[in-house]
Amino acid sequence: MNRKVVITFLSFAFIFSACQPKRENKAQTKQNTVQTEKNSENHESTQTKNTAAQIYAKPEIPVLCYHRIADGPKGDYKVSPATFLAHVKILADSGYHSISPAQLYDYLVFNKSLPEKPFLITFDDSRAEHSAIAAKVLEKQGFHGVFFIMTITYNKKNYMTKDQIAQLVKTGHTVGLHSWDHTMAVKYKTPEDWQKEVADPKKKLEAITGEPVDYWAYPNGVFNHYAAQELSKYFKISFELSTKRDSLLPLQCVRRIIVPDIPAQNLLKSMRKSFGKKK
Ligand SMILES: [Zn+2]
Repeated sequence: MNRKVVITFLSFAFIFSACQPKRENKAQTKQNTVQTEKNSENHESTQTKNTAAQIYAKPEIPVLCYHRIADGPKGDYKVSPATFLAHVKILADSGYHSISPAQLYDYLVFNKSLPEKPFLITFDDSRAEHSAIAAKVLEKQGFHGVFFIMTITYNKKNYMTKDQIAQLVKTGHTVGLHSWDHTMAVKYKTPEDWQKEVADPKKKLEAITGEPVDYWAYPNGVFNHYAAQELSKYFKISFELSTKRDSLLPLQCVRRIIVPDIPAQNLLKSMRKSFGKKK
């Protein structure tokens, strides 16, 4: 699966690098700054923003990524409810503080301070247990999560209902977009593709939550420069997985680690190992 994803990504990266006109390169940094400004709130215009290079150089904040939370055979994309509870408990007991993507943005762009031991906890694919289990476990510890929704799943069996999604925002969590149907961003080629996978679902999700949807998680974590550049027109931050970051668009490729069903102590080690060092 991973090998296939990597090969697919490399193929698309090659196709795009082969097709991209010369306008990329030197103009990118400037373009990125302009797009960052466009995505920002009005009050931000008076504040000095970090450049792409400054944002890229900042120490990374750990971002965890969960998918299924269910019993049954173990896998990278599934943790048991008991393991999830242990993960959240050890984070709380170790003095970690969950932060929102808005706080992460302010840290990256405006050097705003963060609480001690900050981290983000994110959930992909709109599963019903994100609302039924994850949100409740987080709330007990005073944590808030980020829930990335693929909007094709609205009200489908085993997936969150629109009301449950709206409830997440009401209880202080953040809702972001994970495409319409999980097609990878490197496959969006026509304006219709962008409309269907990004613009329309973003609007629908905003109507459901009553809040702007400013954050995106790449389906399969896969992106390239073109996709990142397009997404910067819609989102303040896009989250990837372990692909090499794009130094010209650092806000559009914030790294996350997928958390498998591992003992809680190993989670802390894994966080330190993955985010404790410089790129
Ligand atoms: Zn996904």
